[in-house]
Amino acid sequence: MKHIVVLGGGFAGINLVNGLIKEFGHSIGKDVKITLVDKNSFHFRKVLLFKMIIEDANLKVPLTRYCTNGVEYLKGEVTTFHHTKKTITLKMENEQNNTLQYDYLVVALGSVVQEVSSKLGGITLSSIKAALDIRQKLQSLILQAKAEENKEVRKGLLCVAIVGGGITGIETAAELTAWFKKEVQEAGLHSNEVEVILFDSKEHLLRGVPVKVSEKLVKELNRLGITIRVKTKVKQFEDGQIQCADGTTYRVGECIWTPGVKVNPFIQTLQFPLTKEHQILVTDTYSIQGYPNIFAIGDCARIIYRKTNQVDGMTCKEAIPQAARLSKILKNEVYGNSHSITHKAFPIKLYCISLGPDNGFVWAQKWGLDFTISGKMGARIREKTWDQASLLV
Ligand SMILES: Cc1cc2nc3c(=O)[nH]c(=O)nc-3n(C[C@H](O)[C@H](O)[C@H](O)COP(=O)(O)OP(=O)(O)OC[C@H]3O[C@@H](n4cnc5c(N)ncnc54)[C@H](O)[C@@H]3O)c2cc1C
Repeated sequence: MKHIVVLGGGFAGINLVNGLIKEFGHSIGKDVKITLVDKNSFHFRKVLLFKMIIEDANLKVPLTRYCTNGVEYLKGEVTTFHHTKKTITLKMENEQNNTLQYDYLVVALGSVVQEVSSKLGGITLSSIKAALDIRQKLQSLILQAKAEENKEVRKGLLCVAIVGGGITGIETAAELTAWFKKEVQEAGLHSNEVEVILFDSKEHLLRGVPVKVSEKLVKELNRLGITIRVKTKVKQFEDGQIQCADGTTYRVGECIWTPGVKVNPFIQTLQFPLTKEHQILVTDTYSIQGYPNIFAIGDCARIIYRKTNQVDGMTCKEAIPQAARLSKILKNEVYGNSHSITHKAFPIKLYCISLGPDNGFVWAQKWGLDFTISGKMGARIREKTWDQASLLV
C-alpha cells in the first residue's frame, strides 16, 4: 500500500485531502494510506482574521473534520526530511520525535504574515492575539476620547491608520470603521469624529486591477467614511503620529499594519530548490524539481503556467485548483498510469472583497471585460468564497 503524506492543513492541504478522498474513494486503506500532518489541531481561517478585531469569531476548524473516509490526521511539527530514506521527522506534542515513512510527500506548509518591526510602532495584524490587542487598544482609545475635552485631541484619538492596501487592509478598514463608529456612538460620542485612513505606497489599491475599477472601489470606501492615501509610504508610528516618507504627518490613535504574507521561513531549512523569495520551485505537475515523489502546492510553491509564464499568486483561489489537480495526478502516480494533467493558470482575474456588514465588492475580468458586483450581492459572494475555501459548504 502506498502512503501519501500531506504536510500542512491550510487551504491547500485540506483541499488536497478532499480531492484525494474523491479520487481514491473506497481504495483508501486498501491501495493507499493518506495522512494529513499539521502542527495545529485546526485549520486556521486566516482570511477572516480581521473579523477577530470586532468580535470573537471562530476561525479554527478541527482538522479531523477533513480527515474522513479513512484519512489519518497526525498532530506534529515537521522538523526535517530525509528524501533518500523517504522519511520525515515530526516533533510531537510530548516533545518526542516521530519518524514517518512516505511514498509520496506533499509540502503545503504555506506562509506567515510579514511582521512589521515593533520599533516602527503600531500593531501588525498577524495573529488572533494581535487582533485582540487591536480591539483592546481601540476600546481604550474610546475611553480616553470620552475623558478628553479638546475636540482636536479627541479626533486624533478616534483616528485609526491602516497601512497596506491589499485585500486584508481594505477588509480591515471597512469592518473596523463600521464597528468603531458604533462603539463610539454607544459610548456617547459622535460617530462623525471617527476617521479611518488607509495608506498604501502604490499608485492604486489592488495590484492588477484596472484604474477605473480601483477608483470605483475607492469611491465605495470613501462612502463608508474611509480616507484613502495612495502613493504614501508610512515610515513609522510614534507618539500618536504617523510619519510618512514624503514628510507628511497624521495624528492618529493607533496604527494597524497589514503588510501581506511571506513564505513560511521553515521552508528555507529544507534542501529544496528555492526562488529568491524562498518559494519552492516546482514543475508543471507540482513535483519539486529534482524530487519526483515530492510535491509542493499553495503559498510555499512557485507555480508557473508554462504556456503564458503566468505565476500563481499566494491566494486561496489559486491554491484550491492546484490541490484538485494534484489529487488527480497522485491517483495516476499511485496506480502507475501515465497522464497529461499539468498546471493551468486561474481562468479569470478575480477579487472578492468584504466591505463590512452586508457589503462587498467583486471584480472579475474575462475577455478584456470588467465585471463588478457590489453591495449585498457582493457580500453574499464573498461569504461563499470564504466558506468554499475552508470546505464548509
Ligand atoms: C490576514 C490574511 C488575509 C488573507 N486574505 C486572503 C483573501 O482574502 N483571499 C485569498 O485568496 N487569500 C488571502 N490570504 C492568503 C491565503 O490565506 C493564503 O493564500 C492561503 O492561506 C494559502 O494556503 P496554504 O495552504 O498554502 O498555506 P497556509 O494556509 O499558510 O497553511 C499552512 C499550514 O501548514 C502548517 N504548518 C506550517 N509549518 C508547519 C510545520 N513545520 N509542521 C507542521 N505544520 C506546519 C500551518 O499550521 C498551516 O495549517 C490571506 C492571508 C492572510 C495572512
